Amino acid sequence: MSNQHQHAVAQLRRVAKLLRQDYAGREQQFDAAIKRLEKPDVVHETMLSVKLADGSTKKFKAFRSQHNNARGPYKGGIRYHQYVTKEEVMALSTWMTWKCAVTGIPYGGSKGGIVVNPKELSQVELERLSRAYARFLSDKIGPWLDVPAPDVNTTGQIMAWMVDEYQQAVAKKGLVQENPLGAFTGKPLELGGSQGRDEATGLGGVLVLEKLAEKLGWQRKKDVTIAIQGFGNVGYWFAKHADARGYRVVAVSDSKGGVYVPEGLNPEKTLECKRDTGRVSECRCTDEKCDIENGEELTNEQLLELEVDVLVPAALEDVIHQDNAAKIKAKVVIEMANGPVTPEADEILAKNKVLLIPDILANSGGVTVSYFEWVQNLQGYYWSHAEVIDKLKPLMEDAFAQLWAIKEKHQVDGRMAAYLTAVRRVVDTMLLRGGL
Ligand code: NAD
Repeated sequence: MSNQHQHAVAQLRRVAKLLRQDYAGREQQFDAAIKRLEKPDVVHETMLSVKLADGSTKKFKAFRSQHNNARGPYKGGIRYHQYVTKEEVMALSTWMTWKCAVTGIPYGGSKGGIVVNPKELSQVELERLSRAYARFLSDKIGPWLDVPAPDVNTTGQIMAWMVDEYQQAVAKKGLVQENPLGAFTGKPLELGGSQGRDEATGLGGVLVLEKLAEKLGWQRKKDVTIAIQGFGNVGYWFAKHADARGYRVVAVSDSKGGVYVPEGLNPEKTLECKRDTGRVSECRCTDEKCDIENGEELTNEQLLELEVDVLVPAALEDVIHQDNAAKIKAKVVIEMANGPVTPEADEILAKNKVLLIPDILANSGGVTVSYFEWVQNLQGYYWSHAEVIDKLKPLMEDAFAQLWAIKEKHQVDGRMAAYLTAVRRVVDTMLLRGGL
């Protein structure tokens, strides 16, 4: 077991310790359910052979971990990265089970990965690799079995190739497949994708922020300052929706550094500027395009340590760790990236009374709109952008209200509150099914 999967198992055991008392008379079944949840139901692995442009053949290690499907089909992204490991996808599939449960969407958890640096492949090679993976998965996934989606370094185009290959593969095997589009989400709009998917994760986080601000009595939104690490899909949309609701986004960063504007910056202009210059730190200028002439350049480390109300890590995992956690001055951390706070840092933040909204809730807007995409594919009827957002809002708000109620009732931190809800929902379903 690598650290990441050990971490997922340790988290589950901590939650189980607290939950067990609620299962008086059913302890044996409860313990059996927890034991089963410590490991994925199954991990598929293979070596994919791909013909490269120079005529040679290269092999790539690939995985699909299916953690638990008690609440519905397995659901989880596919990651292309040179550091993908079996244990990492096992951990990520476990976290997907919790994420779907905490939001209340009817899925279990899974995750896939290929050990590859996609930047070293041409488009044609990338397509061949993606098709080979879809062929490998064709009898292991499907709309009612396991529904993959994009994750790190995978895109709508990659989903489009995979849907196409999957459809051909199931036809060749003579398998009945009524609706192949429902086998993948995160697809381009032209191929059964959903309106609103791009912005869903960032927007979901802001919907949570709105409810949190109510709970904390933050009435003057323009006084609520926000720093966002990562100005990619999630970071940009979080900034845009927060700004549109009147919050003050004072800092954003990308891998090359960040910019700090005490008066607040304009996310759209900052994005335009980043597109022109390649980095947000270039955006402190007097050019008409960007309005952040009073900005100061800052490093990613400095951004994390800014004195703001809300810190939003929206880039990478493990960025808040035992060496910098004590320096975090934000009152609230909203985890929009997956796993940005290490377990050691968690304890330090809790000790310093930093309120944490965990990733499994904060960034679940993405998988929620993936769920909407699947529903639309299955019914062959597509919703407008406004309908999608109208449906996302109550789901995010209910999930937050649940978290807050459990947090208050059990006097636990935000992460524990979310896990208590998620694990209870999964265990209850497993107990109902029986056979433990
Ligand atoms: P992205 O690739 O669009 O953006 C990532 C951003 O992080 C970029 O601006 C990049 O420059 C920045 N970055 C990279 N290295 C950095 C570093 N060392 N310091 C600071 N910034 C750095 O990715 P994304 O889709 O926005 O995803 C961001 C995070 O959110 C990831 O952890 C991802 O797993 C998680 N997430 C994404 C979604 C989604 O719908 N996109 C859903 C759930 C969770």
